[in-house]
Amino acid sequence: MIKEYRCKNDGKLLFKGMLIEGQIEVKCKACHEVNTFEPTPLHEVVCHKTGCPNRVA
Ligand SMILES: [Zn+2]
Repeated sequence: MIKEYRCKNDGKLLFKGMLIEGQIEVKCKACHEVNTFEPTPLHEVVCHKTGCPNRVA
């Protein structure tokens, strides 16, 4: 599951990926806004497809 992380100020795409632990700070190249991203809660990371082995009941 790849998530798009966008600038909170102007909505520009900063990076794509998955953040599980820690916290990340990214400075927007367009408006120089510093965006802080929190990790995705683990329950949102697991696959929601029925029958997928990664799925957690
Ligand atoms: Zn920006």
